[in-house]
Amino acid sequence: MRDAFRSELAGRLERLRADGLFRPEVEIAGPQGGVVRLADGREAINLCANNYLGLADDPRLVAAAREALTRWGYGMASVRFICGTHSVHRQLEARLAEWLGFEDAVLHPSCFDANTGLFEALLGPEDAVISDALNHASIIDGIRLCKARRLVYPNGDMAALEARLAEAADARFRLIATDGVFSMDGHIARLAEICDLAERHGALVMVDDSHGVGILGAGGRGSHEHCGVMGRIDIMTGTLGKALGGAAGGYVAASAEIVAWLRQRSRPYLFSNALPPVIAATTLAVLDIIRDGGELRARLWRNARSFREALARLGFRLLPGEHPIIPVMLGDPRHAQAMAAALGRRGVHVAAFSFPVVPKGQDRIRTQMSAAHDPATLERAVAAFAEAGRETGVIP
Ligand SMILES: *Cc1c(COP(=O)(O)O)cnc(C)c1O
Repeated sequence: MRDAFRSELAGRLERLRADGLFRPEVEIAGPQGGVVRLADGREAINLCANNYLGLADDPRLVAAAREALTRWGYGMASVRFICGTHSVHRQLEARLAEWLGFEDAVLHPSCFDANTGLFEALLGPEDAVISDALNHASIIDGIRLCKARRLVYPNGDMAALEARLAEAADARFRLIATDGVFSMDGHIARLAEICDLAERHGALVMVDDSHGVGILGAGGRGSHEHCGVMGRIDIMTGTLGKALGGAAGGYVAASAEIVAWLRQRSRPYLFSNALPPVIAATTLAVLDIIRDGGELRARLWRNARSFREALARLGFRLLPGEHPIIPVMLGDPRHAQAMAAALGRRGVHVAAFSFPVVPKGQDRIRTQMSAAHDPATLERAVAAFAEAGRETGVIP
């Protein structure tokens, strides 16, 4: 039986490789950054980290983390409600809530946990969740775990959202769930229209802002600040694992009652270990940097604009947008993998995305800009794209 199972899995893996759908992992043997040292000794320009502000190896964060380790030790060895709540958890929760414009916030070991623990804790069979079709896997899984009725609308389709709101008019509570930024496309959700519809139909709004927090809006608060809807969102979740330092951790920010209830009932909060205090303390330092970090954000947006323009000039097919996620559309898995490999040989690390991460036929390389990239590095990356694109026949 055991051998049969092993050969079944070996067969599945072989088919993935044959279809160009196997995802190899590249080993990095130094700190995360705009340029990274790979395990084979080569250097590569990294265009696929969520390291938007370049903070992942920032010396100020390393110093803050070192001090926190010395003062607070390594781990809590407990879930929050038994003996795992540390003062720095509460400090960070209060600070995140205030900064994002909510009454309170609760930390999780990851945003995946924040989302999977959210819906089932708050909603029951008499309720309805109305979810954008391109929402992140953790929202989809969170909704699956919940007994509320699930209605899905095509990505960004406001007429369909309104129709679903009407279909679920008999529900006790209706919650619209959306990403603030759709991670595969880099599109920013139409939050002003979503809030208008929610208010007209008496629904609640939940936004997962993992790719918005730290970078969007004048103060870097995220997609709600960018869209001018601060104070009109009921629940916001997000990650500490992207712009906010890139280590790990997530949060839910909401009203005092929602947060208090999640502390009582969210299963990942109740049954999974507390975020290490070193991460909570270091994130407080990250929020100081972001408060004074207009220059980092300006550099990120300059990089995004210039890279987007350069790739478009070369003839690559991009998805339109403004976010530092810049997808290069390649149409099938083999083209995406060939292009990623050709770039890899030229010292540019990118990731090819194919089914099931994106729909079939929408295979792509998703590039992501960072404040850690300097203009000369991006020029080298553009030159590599030009060569690799011609070699693989993607551009003339
Ligand atoms: C990255 C991401 C997550 C997962 O965050 P983790 O903290 O790494 O678990 C959740 N939602 C969205 C939209 C994301 O982009």
